[in-house]
Amino acid sequence: MIIIMKQDVDPEGPEISRIREFLKSFPEVMTRTSGIKGASRQVTEIYLIGPTHDIPLETLSHMPGVEKVVRVSNKYRQIGRHGGQLDQIGFTYNGINFNQDSLNIFIGLCAVDTFEHVEMIFSNLKKLGIATARMGAYKPRTSPYDFQGHGKECLPWLFELAGKYDIKVIAMEVLRAVHIEEIREALETAGNPTGVMLQVGTRNAQNFELLKAVGLQNEFPVLYKRGMGLSLEESLNACEYVANEGNRNIVFCLRGIKSGLGAPHRNLVDFAHVPVIKRLTRLPVCIDPTHSVGTKDQAPDGILDIFHASAEGVIAGANMILIEFHPRPELALCDGPQALTIPEMNHFIADTMLVRKTYEERRDLASRELFRQWHPDQQDLSPAG
Ligand code: PEP
Ligand code: MN
Repeated sequence: MIIIMKQDVDPEGPEISRIREFLKSFPEVMTRTSGIKGASRQVTEIYLIGPTHDIPLETLSHMPGVEKVVRVSNKYRQIGRHGGQLDQIGFTYNGINFNQDSLNIFIGLCAVDTFEHVEMIFSNLKKLGIATARMGAYKPRTSPYDFQGHGKECLPWLFELAGKYDIKVIAMEVLRAVHIEEIREALETAGNPTGVMLQVGTRNAQNFELLKAVGLQNEFPVLYKRGMGLSLEESLNACEYVANEGNRNIVFCLRGIKSGLGAPHRNLVDFAHVPVIKRLTRLPVCIDPTHSVGTKDQAPDGILDIFHASAEGVIAGANMILIEFHPRPELALCDGPQALTIPEMNHFIADTMLVRKTYEERRDLASRELFRQWHPDQQDLSPAG
């Protein structure tokens, strides 16, 4: 059961104390209070865990400060929408908004290699007015003999460069809890010139201890990547571990699933699940066309498969794109063959904007159609109507 408090109810205030007092009659029920600070409002929610069936929903609903009370059925209680009963939970991090309506493009290297390459990416992003990037310092590799990433050694100059080019958020994978500490320390030493979104990769999608570690801190948001061999339900339950430790600033990322049926692509593109994640959860949804497609093959229409796959996600309402570029893919230490080049950056952004605009028009069209269905006698007076 979840109690959603009215907007701006103080988490330490009398309304919450009164509810706690009331719940003392149900000693086996545990409570967890969580404050969600969205882009425009602060909402407090109280999660009731345990035998809640005897708690009178009606009484709770009428207590001061309560907006609504929702009985939850899914296992992913905190990230779930529970049949549309709960609204999305967006967040703002370092000045960038993440929610089910926004779109942010995270462009960058699969693995940080040289200062020069990072600078080329960041300076191009600045020219394009983009303040979000991806940069892997810790790399989970299939073979132990492959490049494992520069790790914490590259963080000081990476963060300094990010500050120089006004990059506000870098998505960076972490493999162990200690990496969170290393990132925090390096940021602090550099004077916090940028922010980091902690990425949990597909290989760690069910590494519950790592998920708890990123969930236990609230400083950095979390990008959770769906397990490449997991059902959606399994991945949603795993993602819940992050929220359950207290961190609700989560983005759920689709990155393709492992199946021979995806060939000749590296994975089977699963972006038809963008609207599904938006319906089942309160989280913004990211797509990763690079790792889904894994090749730079081009269709006869002159458009790369990676662009086409990305467009599939964006036209379905994706809120974030994670995509790999490299100034010289032949020199990349990881995933060079799938990396786009700097001259391809302008094209990718222009293509994405075109698709996004069409998505927004589709959304408006759907809302006008809904209006017409519900009000068959009224004329739609909106400007687009
Ligand atoms: C990555 O984004 O760098 C990465 C390794 O992706 P995934 O975990 O989806 O394979
Ligand atoms: Mn990669």
